[in-house]
Amino acid sequence: MKTGKIVDIECNCGFRLFRYFKAGKGRIIKLLISRLSADFVGLKGAETYSKPICPQCGKELGIIMMIHGEPALKINHGTIKDIRI
Ligand SMILES: [Zn+2]
Repeated sequence: MKTGKIVDIECNCGFRLFRYFKAGKGRIIKLLISRLSADFVGLKGAETYSKPICPQCGKELGIIMMIHGEPALKINHGTIKDIRI
C-alpha cells in the first residue's frame, strides 16, 4: 500500500469513533469501511444509505454509500472533528 497514516476520528463531543488508515494527504471526506482498523460505532454490516450515529451524543455521523463498489461513510463535517494530515 502507498504511504498513509493511522488517524483517530473523533466526534465533536469527544467520543472516539474510529481508527482509520488514511492514504495520502488532505481532508478526510469519506471513510472506506474496509480501512477502519478500529470501529467503535459498528459500521461493518451497516446498510447503504443508513445514517450511523455517535453512541455517546446521538448525532448523525454521515451516510453510508457505495464508492467504487465499496461501502464507505461519507462524513458529516458538522459532527466529526476535522482532521488534516
Ligand atoms: Zn458524539
